[in-house]
Amino acid sequence: MSGAWEMVVGLEVHVQLKTRTKAYCACPTSFGDPPNRNTCPVCLALPGALPVLNAHAVELAVRAAMALGATVHPVSVFARKNYFYPDLPKGYQISQADCPLATGGAVELPDGSCVGVTRLHLEEDAGKSIHDRFAGMTAIDLNRAGVPLIEIVGEPEIRSAAQAGACLRALREVLLFAGVSDVSMEEGSLRVDANVSARPAGETAFRSRTEIKNLNSFSNVERALELEFARHVATYEGGGTIHQQTMLFDAATQTVRAARSKEGSHDYRYFPEPDLPPLVLETSWLETQRAALPELPAAARARWTSAFGLSAVDAATLTATVELAAYFEQVAAATGDGKAAANWVLGEVAAALNETGTAITAFAVTPDRLAALIALVKGGGLSSTAAKTVFQTMRTDAAAPAAIAERDGLLQVGDDDALRGWIDEVWAEHPAEAARYAGGETKLQGVLVGFVMKKSKGRADPKKVNQLLAARATS
Ligand code: ADP
Ligand code: MG
Ligand code: ZN
Repeated sequence: MSGAWEMVVGLEVHVQLKTRTKAYCACPTSFGDPPNRNTCPVCLALPGALPVLNAHAVELAVRAAMALGATVHPVSVFARKNYFYPDLPKGYQISQADCPLATGGAVELPDGSCVGVTRLHLEEDAGKSIHDRFAGMTAIDLNRAGVPLIEIVGEPEIRSAAQAGACLRALREVLLFAGVSDVSMEEGSLRVDANVSARPAGETAFRSRTEIKNLNSFSNVERALELEFARHVATYEGGGTIHQQTMLFDAATQTVRAARSKEGSHDYRYFPEPDLPPLVLETSWLETQRAALPELPAAARARWTSAFGLSAVDAATLTATVELAAYFEQVAAATGDGKAAANWVLGEVAAALNETGTAITAFAVTPDRLAALIALVKGGGLSSTAAKTVFQTMRTDAAAPAAIAERDGLLQVGDDDALRGWIDEVWAEHPAEAARYAGGETKLQGVLVGFVMKKSKGRADPKKVNQLLAARATS
């Protein structure tokens, strides 16, 4: 059979929470420490050791759920997810199954579409098996064992690889701005498993899915989905069938292959965790958490476009990072002029940071100093050209912008006598233009203003120069 095929995708995302210590013990979660340094009887699963739930992990998981608009349940239950693996010392993970922390909610994409969230639950990471350290042997590092994670399971509502990528980027942004995780795919604090199936366009039932693991970047997620979808379609068109199966993406060869072990029919024998009581969250505590939720980037962008008249593109650029958005927000608040603040941040500030590779949090021109500079321009004390010169000086000079402008002779001149003096000189030096202008050729006004600006080295107040010239022409 041939004809149009539709891609169906559902994502499962694991996110490492930004806690200082592990989910059920006090071991540090720091990344890159010597192997097995960050372990204790609990995360090594020594007999008799008991887990204690990390309150900060609960707080961050709840914040993530709220940021996604999910319903946080007042009671959720920890469960043992049993399986044998060398890097899982207990032989089970403490996760949540039938009664997860949260259900519902959605990821909102820039095009206005939404991808539903099925559930969000708390769990712990496993250790790491290292196959390339000792020849013929596998080494185990348990530093990561017990690190708190949330798993976010998405609805099978995604219909293209590009939409999957957009969904992941939007999810990453929400979690980053909510401050719950570093969400770095490189460091493994964001991990994605992608489930995909194909069906003829118009068919309502879902067909068998395969799950792709080992995805290490958003573009690889998109690439792997395209490849796997094409394989499903080719299989169906050749009269074959697709069986539920785990696939692995190989970034080096950009290919998808079947995992060696037959997964998909796992029986984890979930049962309630006897060592941890059900997690009970009080309404008042939940309300406090909701009130503390920071503004999310989509809401900030909407506010900036409507209140400040920013373009969608500019607003999106300003939410590239939490720090840039915060910097812009401070400049906008201090000047009361969001449009001017955006122009400066996206223009001079971005260029300066780019040039030296400086982080915005370490930038010498702090929001307050930039706001003071913008206020000088708005108050008529400084031309926008001169302000750019002052800005460059401010990058290495801690003096106040007004002091720099005064010291360097850059303050705008609005004094009528001084301006008339320059106009007289221009009048004498460009008699032809002056005569034509005086004779009624008003379009020459701009040329004459330009001469005055040049003569004043950019310091003349152009508005006043225009007024004085017009007055002279009609006198
Ligand atoms: P399991 O519990 O076996 O992991 P789930 O029902 O939780 O199965 O589904 C896991 C993921 O697979 C979810 O993200 C879901 O959206 C996705 N999914 C389920 N069915 C399909 C399908 N037919 N095609 C694509 N993705 C699917
Ligand atoms: Mg699953
Ligand atoms: Zn420990």
